[in-house]
Amino acid sequence: MDLGAPIQEVKGIGPKTAEVLHKAGIFTLRDLVYHLPRDYEDFQQAQNIADLKPGNVTVRARVEEIKTRRMRRNLAITEATLRDKTGAVRAVWFNQPYRAKQFEKDVEYYFTGTMALNYGRYQISNPSAVSSKDYDSKLNTYKIQPVYPARGSVKSQDFKKFIKTIDNNIALIPDMIPNFPGRADALFEVHFPENLAQARAGREYLATEELFSLLLAARLNREENQKLRTDPIKCDMEEFKAFVEKLPFKLTNAQRRATWEILQDMAADIPMNRLLQGDVGSGKTMVAALSAFAAAKGGYQTALMAPTEVLATQHAESLANLFKGQLSVALLTGSTKHKDELKKHIKAGEVDLVIGTHALITDDTEFAHLGLAIIDEQHRFGVAQRQKLLSKAHTMPHLLSMTATPIPRSLQLTIFGDLAVSILDELPAGRQPITTKIVSPNSTKQMWGAIEKELLAKHQVYYICKKIDDKGASELSSVKKEVQKIAHQFPNYNVAYLHGKMKPAEKDEIMTLFANGEIDILVSTTVVEVGVNVPNATVMVIADADQYGLSQLHQLRGRVGRGSTASYCYLINSNSDAPTRRLREIERSQDGFYLAEVDLKLRGPGELYGSLQHGALDLRIATITDTKLVHKADMLVKQFRQEGYNMLEYKELSDSVRKYQRLTTLN
Ligand code: ADP
Ligand code: MG
Repeated sequence: MDLGAPIQEVKGIGPKTAEVLHKAGIFTLRDLVYHLPRDYEDFQQAQNIADLKPGNVTVRARVEEIKTRRMRRNLAITEATLRDKTGAVRAVWFNQPYRAKQFEKDVEYYFTGTMALNYGRYQISNPSAVSSKDYDSKLNTYKIQPVYPARGSVKSQDFKKFIKTIDNNIALIPDMIPNFPGRADALFEVHFPENLAQARAGREYLATEELFSLLLAARLNREENQKLRTDPIKCDMEEFKAFVEKLPFKLTNAQRRATWEILQDMAADIPMNRLLQGDVGSGKTMVAALSAFAAAKGGYQTALMAPTEVLATQHAESLANLFKGQLSVALLTGSTKHKDELKKHIKAGEVDLVIGTHALITDDTEFAHLGLAIIDEQHRFGVAQRQKLLSKAHTMPHLLSMTATPIPRSLQLTIFGDLAVSILDELPAGRQPITTKIVSPNSTKQMWGAIEKELLAKHQVYYICKKIDDKGASELSSVKKEVQKIAHQFPNYNVAYLHGKMKPAEKDEIMTLFANGEIDILVSTTVVEVGVNVPNATVMVIADADQYGLSQLHQLRGRVGRGSTASYCYLINSNSDAPTRRLREIERSQDGFYLAEVDLKLRGPGELYGSLQHGALDLRIATITDTKLVHKADMLVKQFRQEGYNMLEYKELSDSVRKYQRLTTLN
């Protein structure tokens, strides 16, 4: 089968369907066969209702008492009681009113769905249903059914049909990697497994194949990077030390160490590629500032790119203040006035440190001699944006990336082989720990009392909600509802809201007002998560806290406790049950690295490295923290190189590797 053939060649895919699939990035047969099931329905594994545990479940049961309730905004909720001989469980369908008439009395059905706790009761949400009459008669062909992720109007069932039409061809697909046989089998097993173990094995093959491309790309990049040369930047150490002496505070040891490592890197003729990892509040900005100082004194310009306008503005204000009389600092964002004039100054080399947002990387921003590029909250940027920034220098500049998200050591080695890492594992002295409390939704009174005291002391409050408004099925707290309640509760204070769907200018305005102390309570979605520094904010309330990952909770909590006054973080559980292990961990610890590890154990890598994985590395099948497969792929790569294969002779492979080469390059 020619994997490069267009999907229109598959029977059943007409122009309309093709258009939908094209929009989803599915163009060729290869794209189609690599559109893998996201799950399987395994009707052979029906469980007793009495034994059900939260997660994916299948039961064989009769339907009792089914009825549909109409809610506001046309939402229809159909509820049923499913019963087998061991017990009963609630099933709920959202906006599927036909369910109420679907089931015959005294016939058993297979229901497959996710069971979870919802307001104190277990329920199976939106289960699929198959009559046992249908199922039992098709027993031999039915086996396990794949469930495909839908793409627009193309549903799982459609994908099932398309893949079925080409099942004979799948068996003929050649291997992609010359020394790694078994691709056709793996694809077949993933789409048509006889049991779940087989599906898993097939998936592991495909994941290894994907990791192979990534690791080979990383290796090739590393070899390339070692050949790069740049201008060394040397600064007068006496002058540097004198500046550090005059700082308003004493550097932490970790800051000292990181700064020293950076200065040494920059003094070499190989471009620096260093990641500065440090927990929220560990003082990464100061390390960045000192690096920029060294670059300026060594005769080079620095560009510091931040993901939001508020953050860039904050950096610019504090650094302009820090460098008064020493360096010239400028802010370049979308709303900067007299941009053209500023750009002329930058081009003429009259600005030492340019701080900005994406505006920094527009085509007409040119530097006279950019020597150091710094990217704050680097995981917020795509590869293309990073590269655009680096391309502003005449030779490859030195690069410092900063992040509060820890990347495990093993991962740094395999994927970013040449990445140097500095860690800030120490908070500045004088920080007060943030008192963290889990609050049950029924007993928030005490919390509000404590908040009122903080407000009276002229401190500010963040209140984080999961949703923007009350659309959709879930009953989680929403910004629009809470802001009304809170404004009503505190008529003498300024209450405002913020969420990701607001226009950037509006968001910035609100954030600026909050930073200036003109808003007392800010009700917001997680958009406030990114690096802003409002030391006067002392209370962080997170509603439905159990709905977030630990790292995210930790990031959010890190918005307070940035000054020298005591701060508080309240985690409101979304139901009145006992708090989860996750919430208890965050109540107990303020160590971001520790929490990241717990998160990894409790939730798996997807949540924690989600952005790294999907945003930056674009892995679709594998996860980078699956060390067993990473190791296997690494061995295959070594073998591939040793046996002297020429990648260019394998078109599919070299296309794939090239894609990852673009993605994994940090230069
Ligand atoms: P992050 O690492 O989260 O980016 P910031 O750089 O925003 O942290 O620093 C948080 C706060 O700590 C800032 O107000 C900064 O001025 C202050 N700070 C940084 N280093 C020190 C230090 N060595 N001693 C005291 N305060 C410091
Ligand atoms: Mg920061």
